[in-house]
Amino acid sequence: MTTPARDLWGDRFNENEQTLLAPFVTDLDQSVFGLRNLPEVVKGALFSRYSRSDKSLRRILLDEFINAPESGFAAIVGSARETGTEQLVATQQAEAFYERVLIGYGDDSVAELGGAHLACEGISNIAAKALEDSRIGISPLEKSTRYVVFNRKRDGRYHYLREPALMTSCHADRYEATLDHLFDTYSSLLEPTMAFVRERTPRDEQTSERAYNSATRAKACDVLRGLLPMATLTNVGLFGNGRAFEYLLTKLYASPFDELRDLAGSMQHALDVLIPSFVKRAKNERGQAYQQYLRDARERVAGLADKYVPQPNSSQAPAQSAVQLVEYDPHAEAKVVAVILYPYLDLPLTAAREIVDQLAAEERLTLLRAYVGDRQNRFHRPGRAFEEAYYTFDILADLGAYRDMQRHRMLTQERQDYTVRHGFITPSELIEAGLSGRYNAALEQAAEAFDIVVTDLPEPAQYVVPMAFRVRWRIMLNLRELYHLCELRSAPQGHPTYRAIAQSMYTQVRDVHPTLAEGMRFVDMYEYALERIDAERRLDAKLTQKTV
Ligand SMILES: Cc1cc2nc3c(=O)[nH]c(=O)nc-3n(C[C@H](O)[C@H](O)[C@H](O)COP(=O)(O)OP(=O)(O)OC[C@H]3O[C@@H](n4cnc5c(N)ncnc54)[C@H](O)[C@@H]3O)c2cc1C
Repeated sequence: MTTPARDLWGDRFNENEQTLLAPFVTDLDQSVFGLRNLPEVVKGALFSRYSRSDKSLRRILLDEFINAPESGFAAIVGSARETGTEQLVATQQAEAFYERVLIGYGDDSVAELGGAHLACEGISNIAAKALEDSRIGISPLEKSTRYVVFNRKRDGRYHYLREPALMTSCHADRYEATLDHLFDTYSSLLEPTMAFVRERTPRDEQTSERAYNSATRAKACDVLRGLLPMATLTNVGLFGNGRAFEYLLTKLYASPFDELRDLAGSMQHALDVLIPSFVKRAKNERGQAYQQYLRDARERVAGLADKYVPQPNSSQAPAQSAVQLVEYDPHAEAKVVAVILYPYLDLPLTAAREIVDQLAAEERLTLLRAYVGDRQNRFHRPGRAFEEAYYTFDILADLGAYRDMQRHRMLTQERQDYTVRHGFITPSELIEAGLSGRYNAALEQAAEAFDIVVTDLPEPAQYVVPMAFRVRWRIMLNLRELYHLCELRSAPQGHPTYRAIAQSMYTQVRDVHPTLAEGMRFVDMYEYALERIDAERRLDAKLTQKTV
């Protein structure tokens, strides 16, 4: 006879109970264990009961779910192995039960206890950016413009969004002709650009053909991505918790873009199968009121801001790319040093500040250096004291670079509309290769089309804008995130335009706060002809190790 499993709280599970529990927990008697094979709604409800119960989690699972007919456990778990629709039906049948548990035993954060993986395929780059604008609780991954060539056709047509409002307007032909021309130009420049890159940086003996081909192809894709319009269709995979999805759906439903509102509906449909109880408020009465609130605020401010919008001046030269440190705290060093000391003092923060105000510069530096320590690589991050110093940047740079920088989440970022007003960038490689004529001509045609469409259809016109055009956005971030962003985004394998932004952010902060920036040792200030080559060589080394 087997001994009953006994958990930390002295709870014993008899043989029958062990059999019932075993498929759903990683261990029957250890005090640290995982949940498995359970639908998200059950995990969420289980955890929310956990906070209001004296019982162990395994006991709650057994008594209040597995053995409670009203939970619909057997139907929900059984159907999870079959189809999503059956699971939805089973979950809906037990909805009263889950409503009671989720609402009765938790606050809003209960919806963080269940998550879902979602694939959003064939969405425009405007939609991809809207999804990736999420910060807490959403982890996106997007098809890369560097490793994937974007000139495939389906039924003889390039993959870009035929936006319904545009396609039913008088601008439809112009829209298709302009975007086809951009994709044709991208396709026709791919081989010559690759040939130029290979001629300029020939393969050396230490580099394998695989690594070389991969790095040179990536370089050509990087150079040409500026031709891709925001209508370009891509795929984004998201993992997120219910609460983050609910907020994301609410924002999408409130968007002025038809595509985003439709996307919200499709996402809701999929999430209703996976985590219905967590996302239902995005579209119920409360959700609709929230959407209206967001729409109203946007429209109110846009109406008021209208009179401040400068009139476009055609004689004006296009702006240059720029990274401007707009604001920083002159007292940042003292504030950071005070919070470095804070955990070790039995004093209020104001008293810690007073102490630091009296310290000599050398003494402050000693404390800063002790705190930063001997960083061996960029993963050795200084602690939270560095969250005390904030910086605001205003950036005007190509949309391609914006798309990359926008992916950072531990900061505040906001952009202006996608437009052609600030001109575009032409990569130096195309100029050197004598290929810039066709590239520039396609972009100029896109600018003309945008200017015509935007007067009638301000949102749909933004799909025309290719990634070479500049966009303006602001970034407000703390010193800790600045370390991460500048060191990651200046790494040799990065795209040159965002590397330049990261390098400029670093030098501007170093100029105003040399002691705070001193620890940022892994910002790479060099330029590279073939950014991916070292990363590809490292990949070769890993592949060789695996096959040995
Ligand atoms: C060379 C390179 C190639 C890339 N290629 C691709 C690509 O092909 N496709 C693609 O989609 N993206 C790509 N990215 C973008 C990348 O996936 C990230 O989106 C980007 O680096 C920003 O995220 P982050 O975690 O580095 O930094 P931030 O979002 O700024 O976060 C800062 C830190 O906070 C922590 N953090 C933030 N959010 C979370 C979270 N949800 N969970 C746990 N910890 C968190 C992490 O420690 C993180 O490093 C690439 C980036 C680089 C540098």
